Amino acid sequence: KKLVIAVDGPAGAGKSTVSKIVAEKLGINYIDTGAMYRAVTYKCLKEGVDISDEKVVSDMAAKSDIDFRDNSIYLDGKSVNDEIRTVEVSSNVSDVAKIREVRYQMVEVQRRIGEKSSVILDGRDIGSYVFPNADYKFYLVATAEERGNRRYKEMREKGFEVNLEDVIRDIVKRDEIDSNREFAPLVKADDAIEIDTTGLGIDEVANKIIENIKL
Ligand code: C5P
Repeated sequence: KKLVIAVDGPAGAGKSTVSKIVAEKLGINYIDTGAMYRAVTYKCLKEGVDISDEKVVSDMAAKSDIDFRDNSIYLDGKSVNDEIRTVEVSSNVSDVAKIREVRYQMVEVQRRIGEKSSVILDGRDIGSYVFPNADYKFYLVATAEERGNRRYKEMREKGFEVNLEDVIRDIVKRDEIDSNREFAPLVKADDAIEIDTTGLGIDEVANKIIENIKL
């Protein structure tokens, strides 16, 4: 049977790391929907467009080719996995993601992928909006301190010169914009299983998800 698994939650709750593991264990595809919004943001910054100009940003999204192949994100045919993880992209992505026309375009791609194959998607609105009939929905949470710490370590490992306070401030601000936007905000779907990942290891969280899945 074809499966759709939704994993939502605030920034740094462990969604992508855990979803990747679950995808591997179940032998299904993994789609990082945040990477799509990041790719549009990266392109806008690269082209020097004004992010507050919704029309220009959504036109930029429309003429971008965003795709997933072998768990990598491609923008106009080029892999941009590292380029989309910068501090600059992170601090602008929520303003791009709140634009309704941008979301329509990304959601169309996500639904197309989920309709043709078994997939686990991580994001903010997967269980609430993109796939309201998903087979399984999870909502991961953790304290802001823990989420900030995880992001901080990740960024340090990638060689970014960041400090913890800035990282925490960035994720809290993103959560606020993501939760308060008008269209398809960050929200726990009523029927999602909430998992508090504070103090849990990656494998523990992955196992909690897998325990719930009946193949
Ligand atoms: O998951 P990640 O932190 O990479 O997502 C980056 C940003 O993309 C989020 O802060 C949010 O603004 C946006 N996003 C979204 N909807 C999704 C996934 C990500 O609005 N489904």
